[in-house]
Amino acid sequence: MTNRTFKPGESRDQACLLPPRIEDYVGPDNPVRAIESFVCVLDLAKLGFRHADRGAEEVGQPPYDPADLLKLYLYGYINQIRSSRRLEREACRNLELIWLLKHLKPGYRTIANFRKENWAALKAANRSFVLLARELGLVGGSVVAIDGSFFHGDASKASIFTRKRLAEQIAKLDQEIEAYGKSLEDNDTAEAKKPRKDRAEGDGGGGGGGDIGAKVAALMAKRSCAQADLARLEESGETQLSLTDPDARLLVKNGQGIAGYNVQSVVDEKHKLIVASEVVNDSSDVKQLHAMAKAAKDALEAEALQALADEGYYSSLELKACEDDGIVAYVPVPEGNGKLEKQGRFSRKDFSYDSDADTYRCPAGELLHPTKGRWQNTSGRVEIRYLSRKATCGSCPLRARCLNPKVPYRTIARWEHEDVLERHRARMQSAGELMRRRSAIVEHPFGTLKCRAGYRHFLLRGFNKVRGEWSLMALCYNFTRVLNILGLADFVACLTRALALFQQVIAAILSRVQALLSGFWRHIARSLLIRRTQLAFVG
Ligand code: SF4
Repeated sequence: MTNRTFKPGESRDQACLLPPRIEDYVGPDNPVRAIESFVCVLDLAKLGFRHADRGAEEVGQPPYDPADLLKLYLYGYINQIRSSRRLEREACRNLELIWLLKHLKPGYRTIANFRKENWAALKAANRSFVLLARELGLVGGSVVAIDGSFFHGDASKASIFTRKRLAEQIAKLDQEIEAYGKSLEDNDTAEAKKPRKDRAEGDGGGGGGGDIGAKVAALMAKRSCAQADLARLEESGETQLSLTDPDARLLVKNGQGIAGYNVQSVVDEKHKLIVASEVVNDSSDVKQLHAMAKAAKDALEAEALQALADEGYYSSLELKACEDDGIVAYVPVPEGNGKLEKQGRFSRKDFSYDSDADTYRCPAGELLHPTKGRWQNTSGRVEIRYLSRKATCGSCPLRARCLNPKVPYRTIARWEHEDVLERHRARMQSAGELMRRRSAIVEHPFGTLKCRAGYRHFLLRGFNKVRGEWSLMALCYNFTRVLNILGLADFVACLTRALALFQQVIAAILSRVQALLSGFWRHIARSLLIRRTQLAFVG
């Protein structure tokens, strides 16, 4: 039993409230120690961080160590603190950050500039972590899933213009200018009809015309801005012009539109780690399959890779590129609208290909033979055309289900690499289980980042900086995930082993350099001795 109502805190007048050593601020099992260990293992100069290779002999005020700023950002992004001003505040009051930064207090400008200037190095650090995860055996490296997700940019929809929107804006401004011009004329006419005495007593002869004149001038200025924007857009060859963030675009999917970026990520099946990612500004995923799968294959150094993606990634050219690079892609084949089937007519599926004879067989059992020429279709595919015989089709009882009345024979266009699609279609027949796993694999990181961390938008503008910020998000996702899988003790032990290995490599390199230098100096000394002896002899 106690006679106190509530638990009392410590007295603020006591001499020592906090532990006397900064080391005591965080416990031995605090995850912040994992950040410290990870950053210590990184070779920041090699990754390209600014000031990382600065020598002690350089003059001037020393900058902050990029390692400290990277630790600050890792801690911030893991704990949903992204703004440079909030990071500055937390560095002063958050005991974990005080421990991590050894009580350094960088200003918000320094913090913000680090993220802007080191976007490429942040990407490299993210890649390094994937390599580390691979070395630790946390990446399966055989099955990956690819998907894209829209993230808001630091731009509003109103700041992004299409040609249509600019043309509409100009037309609307023209109407307004015309309306004001007319009211100006009406005003002048009304003024002219008034007796001379009334006009002098009125508003000094202006009759509100001055106000209207200013409004017309403002509208004209707006119109010339819109006209200049339209000219800029035409010149760039782009479809959209973004005034706030030059690289953000209006992205639309399933009727929902945002102003921002499309983040592509490749996730490994084993522990749902992001092994490759990219930020693009195209709504469609259709051209991303090969680039993303190849990036993952390179990062994993895999001999062969199975890549799963949704229907939005289906592209024959992309499937061919994947096959050429040893990537086995699984992408559902779009069904189309099935208009012909609904009408009871034959579609292409009803024609079977015989690879030995290089012919198609129609539902009536007749053969379609290839023509000699090659045609390029609108998507750039080179195709061969197979034709039925006019006479056969003319007397065919199935003609009404196969051809339009005005068309004399049937044509089937076959892509020159159609065998790639046939192999893919055959693969997809037995890929039901694999495709069911796809969304569970790839949605994990996006779900975690967007719903748990609340990262639905970028704070920075422009491709480079946005890519740097995404690298931080992906790195922090992977970092937290690995920490959860391994536990702090194992994770730190692995990093320590990696650091020891790194130090061994450095020591080996240094000893080789030392040996080379000593040989060089011995050679120089011998040359000088010979030269001196020769001079003495001549003298
Ligand atoms: S119309 Fe010609 S191509 Fe079509 S099913 Fe009849 S024979 Fe075959």
